[in-house]
Amino acid sequence: MSIEGHSVAGEETWFRIHPPGLAFDVGRGAPAQAGSRDLFVSHGHLDHALGVPYVLSQRTLHHQAPTRVFCPVPVAGVLAEFVAAGERLEGVEYQYQIVGLAPGDRVEVGRDLAIQAFATDHVVPSLGFHLLRRRRKLKEEFRARSGSELAALRSGRVEIDDESEEIWLSYCGDTGPDVWRLAPRIAESRLLMIECTFLGDQVRQHGSAYKHLHFDDLVEHEADLERHEAIVLHHLSRRHSIGELRREVEAKLPRLASRVHLLGEAGE
Ligand SMILES: [Zn+2]
Ligand SMILES: [Zn+2]
Repeated sequence: MSIEGHSVAGEETWFRIHPPGLAFDVGRGAPAQAGSRDLFVSHGHLDHALGVPYVLSQRTLHHQAPTRVFCPVPVAGVLAEFVAAGERLEGVEYQYQIVGLAPGDRVEVGRDLAIQAFATDHVVPSLGFHLLRRRRKLKEEFRARSGSELAALRSGRVEIDDESEEIWLSYCGDTGPDVWRLAPRIAESRLLMIECTFLGDQVRQHGSAYKHLHFDDLVEHEADLERHEAIVLHHLSRRHSIGELRREVEAKLPRLASRVHLLGEAGE
């Protein structure tokens, strides 16, 4: 899997995930997002959602397939008005649909891939998104069969596979520390993309006050972070540097440090 993106608190946040080539948030409208058929918008703050009309405009201009825009249910109406204003400004009809999602709703996004929305903890209606991957494994009793025997069983509609589903990735958008209570399954994801806006004692209360995460909230939830193969921290405030965040990770989460990736750090 590859993740491309940019995220600085209050500036913009957008990610593109391949496969399946979808967008988590749209920032102020990055040209790279024009390749995304599905846009998942976590909430209406403009550092995450301003780019929606721009991306729809670009995709329509380049005659790409119609775009699906998913957002929290309470945001859908006003986002539709915002996009319609863009169409009127440009005198163009974009090809898209806007779909409101509630926590638990699922959307198929590719072969064996689905998105499921979950609740997050922010000052406006907000969602996070799990990327789920279905996996098929041959049932024990069929393991010794030849390829042609298996093909015959399949065409005879015999169920020869066990299906399971894993959370491949969880993207939390903007959220305060209540997210682990609202969406405990994020702890199961192989890859966690979670914000870390604040660090240091001076702004320790900013996280819960503004419904963002302070680095020490992550430290308090260290037990919930144990299972991730990788953790991507994003949405750092401009008042802090990536170097400061890396030093905090090394000092306060030493056991997890090698699995923590900081957006904007060299090579990330
Ligand atoms: Zn934000
Ligand atoms: Zn926000």
